[in-house]
Amino acid sequence: MLEKIDHIGIAVQRLEDAIPFYEKALGLKCERVEEIPGQKVRTAFFPVGEVCLELLEPTTEDSPVAKFLKQHGEGVHHVAFQSDDLTEQLALAKAGGAHAINEIPTIGAGGKQVLFLHPKTSHGVLTELCSELVKESPTEQFEANLV
Ligand code: ZN
Repeated sequence: MLEKIDHIGIAVQRLEDAIPFYEKALGLKCERVEEIPGQKVRTAFFPVGEVCLELLEPTTEDSPVAKFLKQHGEGVHHVAFQSDDLTEQLALAKAGGAHAINEIPTIGAGGKQVLFLHPKTSHGVLTELCSELVKESPTEQFEANLV
């Protein structure tokens, strides 16, 4: 089940230029800057109530965000929904005609598990499904290793 809109991703050329705009013009506070090597981006998070804005800057020429910027310029890149069960959510999305870009969740910003649905089957919107990563405690892992 989808619980809320978690964040809205916005592609920008340079975080150094975009962060001051969101801080000065909108009065928001940048909570953290985080690099996600798997997605070849650096991100900046701005909480706004329950939802965050996620600014995305490409770190390489072949980053998906670099390709997006070449095609569309800066702007809204994706909408991310928080789900309580990614497996169930993916099955629902596929049954409803969505094409998943990745079916095995990868680790996104904030250590969350993330899946993406292709914009071609989502009416032009790259759709991210995310879920909190359940972390096992070191004790549980240690006990599991003994079995
Ligand atoms: Zn995102």
